[in-house]
Amino acid sequence: MNLNNTEICPCCGNEYIKNLPPETYFYDCCEDCSFWLEKLYLPEQYSNKQVIVGGVH
Ligand SMILES: [Zn+2]
Repeated sequence: MNLNNTEICPCCGNEYIKNLPPETYFYDCCEDCSFWLEKLYLPEQYSNKQVIVGGVH
């Protein structure tokens, strides 16, 4: 049963409630994934400071 504003995250596959402003969500991913995806898309000069383990920050 779908509740209002319930979305499936295309990134992790989890259901989440889309109750924050649209700009919070990166590519319709859940809040958690969006948080990390934004970091992945940081400018190149920061990329050497990222720590990625198994494709996850
Ligand atoms: Zn997700």
